[in-house]
Amino acid sequence: MATDHQHGADQLMNRFIVVGAGPAGLSLSLQLARGGASVCLVEARRDFARGLRGDALMPSGLEALARMGLWEDVLALPQRPLQGWQVWLEGRRLFEVAEPMGSLQGCRLVRQQDLLEYLLAQALLLPGFDWRPGQLVSELIQRQGRVAGVRLASGEELQADLVIACDGRDSSLRQMAGLDLDQLGPPLALLWLQLPNPAAPPDATLSSFLTLVGSGAIASACLGAGGDLQLGWLLRPEEPTPQRSASAWAEAVARLAPPSLAALLRQQGHRLEKPQRLRVQVGAARQWRRPGLLLLGDAAHPMSPVRAQGINLALRDALVAARELLQVTHSREAGQRQRRLDQAAATIEHQRKSEVRQLQRLQLAELRQGHWVGHNAIARNGLSLAAPLLGPAARQVWMARQRPLREGTAWL
Ligand SMILES: Cc1cc2nc3c(=O)[nH]c(=O)nc-3n(C[C@H](O)[C@H](O)[C@H](O)COP(=O)(O)OP(=O)(O)OC[C@H]3O[C@@H](n4cnc5c(N)ncnc54)[C@H](O)[C@@H]3O)c2cc1C
Repeated sequence: MATDHQHGADQLMNRFIVVGAGPAGLSLSLQLARGGASVCLVEARRDFARGLRGDALMPSGLEALARMGLWEDVLALPQRPLQGWQVWLEGRRLFEVAEPMGSLQGCRLVRQQDLLEYLLAQALLLPGFDWRPGQLVSELIQRQGRVAGVRLASGEELQADLVIACDGRDSSLRQMAGLDLDQLGPPLALLWLQLPNPAAPPDATLSSFLTLVGSGAIASACLGAGGDLQLGWLLRPEEPTPQRSASAWAEAVARLAPPSLAALLRQQGHRLEKPQRLRVQVGAARQWRRPGLLLLGDAAHPMSPVRAQGINLALRDALVAARELLQVTHSREAGQRQRRLDQAAATIEHQRKSEVRQLQRLQLAELRQGHWVGHNAIARNGLSLAAPLLGPAARQVWMARQRPLREGTAWL
């Protein structure tokens, strides 16, 4: 609940409601509250335990955290540096690339739960921050053609100068506001399988992110920040989830994997957790805003999991948004205040859209290439057999896309 101090302060500050405490919503709320604004953060869930989430922070996301003044704190969180990226075809290595690939910082694996809990702990220290966990936003309050706040499922109404929807890929606020999503490419179905704490992680291979391609199959393997083995398996959207035992899943991945990972899967695969299926539609809202409302993060542009972009772009959105919104000085005249915030929202959309569009296209290109190899036996067998010869050329093609995907394309 807001304190008396906050209610007094609200008269001097712009009041923001942020919906959704993922990377976008939490990092934005923290910056706004640090900048002296009044922020109410509403989150449907009560905890940050998220099964279906990757941990990879790219240099682009790390840069955003550094610019938020959080670099030292992020370094202090439990983490694992990623050593590199490897592509395997039919169990043969096509190429590998070591981190940090020319960047100042390499990719780091930080459990999303740890990052979010840390951001929340910092925000809770600030007087302008009002935390509402376990509260679902069920409606937008509209007044005179403008979003003026939100209604919670409990019936409570919260008023705001600007509502910022950071409620993720299936954003209900985006839908309530009638903001259409342009879909990019066909939807994907991703199966996510975890092997908790493999007793003896194999050699250094698993310190890298592995892309595994075989006959009609594209999979990935990586040791997460917490030491769990995380496996991804791509399906066509209409394809039903194959009914396999844990050991049969382990065997399916083992067939594509390097020898050390294959051995681990065959030994411990019976402990694989049941696969979780995720439908991923990549897209971008045609417009990120309505008067009184701004979409950020996955709510504005649901990302593909390919090459770990979503957290990083959400953090970059939040950095730019906080900077613009904190420049809007409070005015006692409501119309003027709202006009200025809407202008700031337009600037934020303008600044962020082009980077998002470029990176989504690169993700799509990466995926198409994977599909082409996975489903084209001649190309796959040719590449696999001639890996020592063709690997360097394939590596070069792959590398050409990686700089923007790692570092972003916008000047922050
Ligand atoms: C399997 C998988 C692996 C991934 N791996 C990576 C990776 O390694 N690196 C990377 O950068 N990205 C990765 N991503 C993508 C990344 O997790 C997302 O892009 C990122 O979390 C988006 O952040 P966000 O803050 O926009 O939204 P989210 O993290 O989705 O947060 C939205 C929040 O809004 C809340 N919410 C929703 N509706 C309401 C409502 N009506 N009222 C109140 N609260 C609401 C939700 O409970 C949630 O907490 C991965 C995604 C998946 C599925």
